[in-house]
Amino acid sequence: MNIDLTEDQRLLLDSIKAFVEQEFMPHEDAVDKAANVDDDLTEQIKKRAIEMGFYAANLPESVGGGGLNHVERTILEREFGKVTHALHEIAARPTELLMACQSDQIETYLKPSVTGERAECFGLTEPGAGSDVMGMQTRARQDGDDWIITGQKHFISSAVNPDFAIVFAATGVEQTPRGERKQVTSFLVDVGTKGFEMVRGPQPVSQRAYRNFELYFDDCRVPASQILGEPGTGLDLANQWLRAGRIWVAAGCCGKLERLLELSTEWAATRQQFGQPIGKFQGTSFKLADMATELLASDLLTFHAARGADADNMRPDDVAMAKLYASEALGRGADNAVQIFGGMGLMEALPIERLWRDARLERIWEGTSEIQRHIISRTLLREHGA
Ligand SMILES: Cc1cc2nc3c(=O)[nH]c(=O)nc-3n(C[C@H](O)[C@H](O)[C@H](O)COP(=O)(O)OP(=O)(O)OC[C@H]3O[C@@H](n4cnc5c(N)ncnc54)[C@H](O)[C@@H]3O)c2cc1C
Repeated sequence: MNIDLTEDQRLLLDSIKAFVEQEFMPHEDAVDKAANVDDDLTEQIKKRAIEMGFYAANLPESVGGGGLNHVERTILEREFGKVTHALHEIAARPTELLMACQSDQIETYLKPSVTGERAECFGLTEPGAGSDVMGMQTRARQDGDDWIITGQKHFISSAVNPDFAIVFAATGVEQTPRGERKQVTSFLVDVGTKGFEMVRGPQPVSQRAYRNFELYFDDCRVPASQILGEPGTGLDLANQWLRAGRIWVAAGCCGKLERLLELSTEWAATRQQFGQPIGKFQGTSFKLADMATELLASDLLTFHAARGADADNMRPDDVAMAKLYASEALGRGADNAVQIFGGMGLMEALPIERLWRDARLERIWEGTSEIQRHIISRTLLREHGA
């Protein structure tokens, strides 16, 4: 990585790198082919992650987490991002949204998530509401001291079977200077609650072993004590705690691009055609040059956003630019890697085709490339009153 790091950050990077090589990489091919991570391997990774202090490394030390700052977490996500989410998300970084837990929620949801006894999923997206979050149809109405949730979520992902879901539901409407806006409330809903059904969704081609769930709520009754934060503040809470989330996607893209560049460079230097290494042909070597240049640009944008977040002055467009550029650079780099490997790039015998498939998702989740461009251009235009 061509980024200035302190001595402590270098040591952290070395220990994460070793963990990824020992605990994840030996299994990535098999779990992708099986489209599953079995229970024994899941337990083994979880145990090792807890021993090494990587489990819940993102949450503050005050609640038992690892207390990584944004730059340190970027270093972690960059290395973890070299392998499938199905493996590295077992060494979980529970959603920071759980820091909004209050009173009994702390013992029931936050603390067991830090120790690995319980796992959550994040239920926002719906079949009719992806980029347009406010198009959400899932609703909750108050009935005495309870709330009754009705609706459906899809594309809800997790490395393990979740024990509870953080579910976003419309609970009313408020007037804003720009007109009516849905009020959204987040609920903690345990798997097994009457009226809540969780089933496996379709198999994605990216991140094949990563689990994808559909959540169904049919008059699912939960007590008011299951509200996370205050009623009507669900999306504000998500914005408050998850605003750096796109940095982690960008960091993972940098890691994957670095891996593809290393593999492609080695191949171009050793694969012979016409009596010389294919790297001697500019059609190949210029692809490597483009990948290296775009990797550094992606890293600079990503660490710029992370350093801004640590200094508490991260701008929404900083994060959007990092996520946009790194995920698109990865897309171009993965395609170049397949081209450099030729037919072998498409064979399951090598990791290239898997990295190429996995890379495709990065331009879609955590806000598509178009939504990132929207955020960046909106910031520009607002400065001119538009
Ligand atoms: C494997 C996987 C795991 C996921 N995990 C989770 C999860 O755990 N929890 C969760 O809540 N969600 C999750 N998601 C959902 C993910 O965040 C959404 O897929 C993403 O936000 C895009 O929504 P969509 O797929 O409905 O696409 P759509 O919103 O339907 O978009 C389709 C196309 O239209 C474009 N488009 C839409 N609106 C605009 C606009 N205003 N301007 C320009 N272009 C536009 C998009 O950019 C895109 O190209 C996951 C998705 C996948 C595929």
